[in-house]
Amino acid sequence: MRKFDLVVVGAGPGGSSAALAAAEAGMDVLLLERSRFPGEKNASGFALSTKAWRDFPFIADLDLPSMRYNRFCVAHILSPPPEMEERFSISSGPSRRMGYPEARDFFTVGMLRREFDQWLADKARTAGATLMLESLVTGLRRESGRVAGVVLEGGEEFAAPVVVGADGVLSATARLSGLREKWRPDQVISACAVDFEAPRERMDDVIHEAGFQAYFGPGIGGNYLVAYADGVHLGGPGVTNSLVSRLNRSHVKPARELLDTIAAPPTRRLLRALEARPREWQAHLLPWMDRMPTNIYTGGLMLVGDAAGLPEPLYAEGVWQAMYSGRLAAQVAMECLEEGDLSAASLARYLERLEESPVGKEFVGGAELRRLFEILGDPRLSRELTEMAVDLTVNLFMSAQEPKAECVARALPVLAENLPALMEVARIYLPMILQVEGERLRGHLAVLKGLAAALGGGAVGSGDAEA
Ligand SMILES: Cc1cc2nc3c(=O)[nH]c(=O)nc-3n(C[C@H](O)[C@H](O)[C@H](O)COP(=O)(O)OP(=O)(O)OC[C@H]3O[C@@H](n4cnc5c(N)ncnc54)[C@H](O)[C@@H]3O)c2cc1C
Repeated sequence: MRKFDLVVVGAGPGGSSAALAAAEAGMDVLLLERSRFPGEKNASGFALSTKAWRDFPFIADLDLPSMRYNRFCVAHILSPPPEMEERFSISSGPSRRMGYPEARDFFTVGMLRREFDQWLADKARTAGATLMLESLVTGLRRESGRVAGVVLEGGEEFAAPVVVGADGVLSATARLSGLREKWRPDQVISACAVDFEAPRERMDDVIHEAGFQAYFGPGIGGNYLVAYADGVHLGGPGVTNSLVSRLNRSHVKPARELLDTIAAPPTRRLLRALEARPREWQAHLLPWMDRMPTNIYTGGLMLVGDAAGLPEPLYAEGVWQAMYSGRLAAQVAMECLEEGDLSAASLARYLERLEESPVGKEFVGGAELRRLFEILGDPRLSRELTEMAVDLTVNLFMSAQEPKAECVARALPVLAENLPALMEVARIYLPMILQVEGERLRGHLAVLKGLAAALGGGAVGSGDAEA
């Protein structure tokens, strides 16, 4: 039986990042992948966020044929089904207030998973990891009650004092180690995508850098379009609809919602302009937790990425999370190996560090954000707020149909009528931002209070900043 310092199960972004970090640090690593090549399962495209450029210097070398920089996001507000016509749209580049250079330059880069996953696995192999393809892990070895290696379908065994389970949402390592039997229905979502190919020149002319577009509206919950060099994929289900359906305990129909968005007139026009042709249809489970999961390690084993349930709680972005947790697990494995202690108590530092890391911070306010979406997903409220936005923007600046002051005046009663719902939004929003920006906000409130006093009004902040 061959022995390694570390066995990694699954060569997705999480597994390859773990194997790369461990191999670069001189560990003897085995990376096992059940498919014929990394990325075989996720054949369509995805959007990699700028966080990967911030946290992984080697990502600057990424140069894949399918890459398209997304420097503009577009939100389309559609009228309710069955009409689903474009009602209002907002497009924006990144905010200059973002905290690192790449985030001020672009949002994401779209590319194909089969290219990205192979590139990352290849980096791990070049750094010295042994990559074995078509190797399905079906069992775990145990020594002294701890995980101590893996068993492949067919019976071949590999020993290692520590195993990283990077085997995705239906993680066998999570189940075999006893960490999780299966997800509860409220912890996973069924995500669908239809992949279209389109000539590159059409993509350049029609999409250019607007590589992420989302579709919202009354009864339309946020399906999205991701663009890469030679095509787009439309994905769903809408976040709002899933939440609302789930809360009403009614059936979630992700495929239906997605097909409706694809059939909607604005999407049809876009696909026609792109000369797009359907290439692939996929439906995957995806972990979707609103709190940071904690049952992600045991003696001799750590779970990373989707296997651990780490996609962020709003849009279930998960590739950067998988990479970050994979690298962290490798670092912890290395430390614990040096200390000669791979017990659960020793590996507990993996969870502690993950909770403190940017991955953990993505979960701050996760449940509250979902509640915001649920309120704004109310069809009446979203219709009225859209009307108000139209009056305050388009009708104020771009239309000559009515006097400007009347457009503004018409919007304000809408605001007043919806004040109870908006107060509910504020009740969720304010505690959430106080958690993150508390000191700064209290500072601003103090300045306002001082200003009011100086002006002799004294009305602002008659309660204190805490209130
Ligand atoms: C439709 C859809 C669209 C998405 N879009 C985005 C996006 O745009 N941006 C983003 O950041 N995230 C996106 N995600 C989420 C993202 O795909 C996942 O969070 C990410 O792939 C997690 O990486 P991972 O390495 O943990 O798992 P995976 O990518 O699932 O990799 C797991 C690997 O383990 C292998 N494996 C599984 N079981 C075994 C076994 N028993 N033995 C050996 N090998 C095994 C699999 O073949 C696979 O290669 C999307 C998800 C879906 C479903």
